[in-house]
Amino acid sequence: TISMAVIDRAGRIAVGTSTNGATFKIPGRVGDGPIVGSSAYADDEVGACGATGDGDIMMRFLPCRREHEAGRNPEHAASNAMSRIARKYPNFVGAVFAVNNKGAHGGACHGWTFQYSVRAIGMHDVEVFTVKPRDGGL
Ligand code: ASP
Repeated sequence: TISMAVIDRAGRIAVGTSTNGATFKIPGRVGDGPIVGSSAYADDEVGACGATGDGDIMMRFLPCRREHEAGRNPEHAASNAMSRIARKYPNFVGAVFAVNNKGAHGGACHGWTFQYSVRAIGMHDVEVFTVKPRDGGL
C-alpha cells in the first residue's frame, strides 16, 4: 500500500491510497482502498490521514475519517484510531499516519512496526519515521 498526503503552498490538502489488496485476496474483494474515510481522508481545514493494514477490519471503523474529526494533534489522533480498532480486534495489524494543516504529523500502528516518510519545503531528502506498535507486536 502506498498512501500519500500533500499540502501545497496555498494550503490545499490532498491524499490518496493505492493498494494491491491484502494477502489472500479473494476475487471481487473491494478492500478499504476506495472507501473514503477508511484508507484516506483529507480536509483543508484540518489535515489528512492515510492507512494501511487489514482493510477488511479497518473499513468498519473509518479510521481516517474519525481520526480526522479527533482534531489537530496528529500523533494523538493516530493513536486513538488504532486503539478504537484494537479494543475490538486485538490481533488486528494496521497503521495510520496523520498530518495537520500546519504540517505537524504523527503515526500509530498495531501488530507491526510502521514507517512513513516526510518531505517538507527546505528539506533535501525525505526523513523516515519509525513507529513502534503500542502492543509490542512485530
Ligand atoms: N489495506 C489494504 C487492503 O486491505 C492492504 C494494505 O494496506 O497493505 O486491501
